[in-house]
Amino acid sequence: DEALQLEIRIVPYGEDSRLLIAQDVTQLRFMERVRSDFVANVSHELRTPLTVLRGYMETLTEGGQDLPASSYKKMVQRMVEQTSRMQSLVDNLLSLTRLESGPPKPATVVQVPLLLDRLCKEANLVEAPEHAPVRLVLDSQVSLLGNETDLHSAFANLISNAVKYSRPSDTVTVRWSQEEAGGVRLDVEDTGPGIPKEHLPRLTERFYRVEIEGCRSKSGTGLGLAIVKHVMSRHDAELFIASELGRGSRFTCVFPPSRVVAGSDASRPNFP
Ligand code: ADP
Repeated sequence: DEALQLEIRIVPYGEDSRLLIAQDVTQLRFMERVRSDFVANVSHELRTPLTVLRGYMETLTEGGQDLPASSYKKMVQRMVEQTSRMQSLVDNLLSLTRLESGPPKPATVVQVPLLLDRLCKEANLVEAPEHAPVRLVLDSQVSLLGNETDLHSAFANLISNAVKYSRPSDTVTVRWSQEEAGGVRLDVEDTGPGIPKEHLPRLTERFYRVEIEGCRSKSGTGLGLAIVKHVMSRHDAELFIASELGRGSRFTCVFPPSRVVAGSDASRPNFP
């Protein structure tokens, strides 16, 4: 895979000479493969929930009235889950496109403690109790000056990754706390499988996914962390990733003091 790929062309040169042109196409071929893997992943990501939805719908239309209420409820619950899976994929595709090319969105006061509370509750609702539980620790109540849609998208990706890549016996902790220097940080920490060191520098590239042999690979498109990175840079924030195989991972977003809005200011209308 790492081998250099050359494309060689021979073209006429003058009366009786030939010119040999060797072009290094390693990066080009790599990008082509990444792109076609991406299309395959996106198609798979849409097809799976559609197949599941269709199956449930057929069951419900064919004999839904005769089903016990509990089975009926379970099926509708699964349909909601599959729909939200498709929705987050489409949201991610639109977010990344907008973040990569669109102008920055206007900033407002975003009440991060409320946002995190909502995200953690949502994460615990989906497919409970077959996944790692999410615990929220609010050591700070400060808000951020930023764009709510973008921050929602970034934080949702970090939390859903932690849940997705962990086992049900693991735990996920989301912590919002103040930094000594006046900034504020979000830590999303899990006790999951961890990420091999060599992958860490590339995780935030779009479409980049870690394939580990022998592990059942989880569904995904490799867009989540690319979105997180873009959103952080638009908020003058930094993303740190720490991970140890077999012990877990921690994703940290550090926001500077200029982005922090204290509790009393946050409730003031039209801030700043
Ligand atoms: P996706 O989850 O769609 O593959 P992301 O950009 O969100 O894309 O993540 C990139 C890769 O980083 C994932 O494929 C996964 O291998 C790895 N990863 C992200 N978060 C975690 C985590 N909390 N624990 C283990 N691996 C993770």
